[in-house]
Amino acid sequence: MQALTNKSQAVNRKPMTLLERLYLINIIKGMLITFSHMFKKQPTIRYPEEKREFSPVFRGLHVLNRDEEGRERCTACGLCAVACPAEAITMEAAERVEGEEQLYREEKYAAKYEINMLRCIFCGLCEDACPKDAIYLSETFAPANYTRKGFIYGKPDLLIPNPLTEATAFAEAKGVEA
Ligand code: SF4
Ligand code: SF4
Repeated sequence: MQALTNKSQAVNRKPMTLLERLYLINIIKGMLITFSHMFKKQPTIRYPEEKREFSPVFRGLHVLNRDEEGRERCTACGLCAVACPAEAITMEAAERVEGEEQLYREEKYAAKYEINMLRCIFCGLCEDACPKDAIYLSETFAPANYTRKGFIYGKPDLLIPNPLTEATAFAEAKGVEA
């Protein structure tokens, strides 16, 4: 049979000697390699105690933004969902009623807003498409999860804390906007 590359080698079927069958030399060789790595600089870090610095253009987990008065900025226009190449965003719009002016900035708001993080490619197009500065990709990332359902982020997961009532949590969640 014709070989696809010139890298193939004939298999050596010679019976092993007693020394070879003891594997001692190979074990010592392996241990020497392991030992030599103990003095090399570690390429890994002790996450989560240590964290690497992200690139300035890193795009992480989405945040649904509020304005300076703590009102939700999203008006459920759907532009982010249309712009999303992965079809990861779904939402349901609702009309603001009298007395909800301090909750929602616009007359229409997202009663339901979901992002499927398993579909998302963190391209940032939803952020670019939003005319209300209502969504941005933060410097944090979606934590690991055991179920697919756990990667469907709803509004409670995405909405930034209220700056008026939870100032510290708001500042933490805000991080550095992309
Ligand atoms: S970052 Fe890109 S893929 Fe992810 S939800 Fe936004 S537009 Fe869709
Ligand atoms: S996040 Fe922005 S683009 Fe998306 S529905 Fe809300 S206001 Fe529209």
